[in-house]
Amino acid sequence: MEQIKQSLFSFNYSELKARIAVDGKRSFLADQIYDWVYRKFIFDPELWTNVGKDTRSYLAQHFTWELPQIIWNGLSQDGTRKFLLKFADSQTIESVAIPARNRLTLCVSSQVGCAMGCTFCHTATQGLKRHLKVEEVVGQYLAVTKWLKENVSEDSRLSNMVYMGQGEPLHNFNAMKTATEIFLEEKGLHLGQRKITLSTSGLAPQIEKLKDFPPVNIAISLHSPRDEVRSKLMPINKAYNLERLFAAIDSIPLKANRRITYEYLLIDGLNNTQEDLEELFKLIKPSESKINLIPFNEFPGSPFKRPSDQKVLAFQKAFMDRGYTCTIRMTKGEDILAACGQLKSEFEKINLWADESVASVQLTKQLSKLSHKHLEYNVAIQAAEDEDTQDEEDLVDDLVLEMDAATDLNL
Ligand code: SF4
Repeated sequence: MEQIKQSLFSFNYSELKARIAVDGKRSFLADQIYDWVYRKFIFDPELWTNVGKDTRSYLAQHFTWELPQIIWNGLSQDGTRKFLLKFADSQTIESVAIPARNRLTLCVSSQVGCAMGCTFCHTATQGLKRHLKVEEVVGQYLAVTKWLKENVSEDSRLSNMVYMGQGEPLHNFNAMKTATEIFLEEKGLHLGQRKITLSTSGLAPQIEKLKDFPPVNIAISLHSPRDEVRSKLMPINKAYNLERLFAAIDSIPLKANRRITYEYLLIDGLNNTQEDLEELFKLIKPSESKINLIPFNEFPGSPFKRPSDQKVLAFQKAFMDRGYTCTIRMTKGEDILAACGQLKSEFEKINLWADESVASVQLTKQLSKLSHKHLEYNVAIQAAEDEDTQDEEDLVDDLVLEMDAATDLNL
């Protein structure tokens, strides 16, 4: 009977040691694997010069090392680069590399589609197709790193990660936990805990399990301090309302000087009133929180309005006057459909998987037809962001989140 092979990228370090020990291999081999894969970014054991022929043959017999296939990428005018990746079963997801200051952050997906049904999110329209496996989460980092090294610069390095792509990461808790352990492993990538941010829509029971998750940054998509409004935007609120959500948040073990980030999509008249502010002040403790405001981007036919820049700044000032850290996030990569799930949908609309080269050409043409929405933030908002003096490792203010649904809101 043919043996089922496992991906080399599916094991955290201790799991890998235990797995090869079953076959009588010493832990030194796990060190070598981690060094070649996660430090040298050479994935094929045939190219590992300090590994003997017998060991290479052993690895080929028991393991695989395929990466997800990058089938399309697009570079935004602001430097954001979006990748469409395909897995062995032909399912596709998106990953986005976002440059900011001296960082290059990868926004990874955790699921194919999503079950959470947020009404402003394009991915929600796809429903949940399946969870990603550990190697598919880790594979996003490795495949994009390989692509950047081959196509941009050998020195390219993804310095930060955000779990804010397609999917609810806490709905795929175990795989995201192991992937995070791999990202943090000091014998491999050794990313700092503060360089990884997990964003959740508010899956309260899973938030309560975060004590069993590596202590990375946590971002909560809040969007309203009122249950009736939040339930309209995020159906998860019907299952776990604000009271339940904040009870769960209280259970998160926060290390010293660490804070929860609250993402807040600003929609004029819906969630940016003085009453909303008063409720938010009651819900959120300034000493343990950061607020990240995301002004809604209107699109033709949208029932919602974006607040004026003055209102956005006034909302920010109200928080800051109360002692909160509050930032305003720029939307990035709009010209390459960086909004969550949008690229995948466009690609599937074309539906030419049989001939990817043709599909790529058609997609590129289609993208170029889309009206390019230029960023409209005024100088004052940009200045407000630039003046933010927080520890840069602790910031997620300028990242593409699932909330950056600039042109694809489906309310
Ligand atoms: S915003 Fe995030 S959690 Fe909500 S439907 Fe979209 S991908 Fe899922």
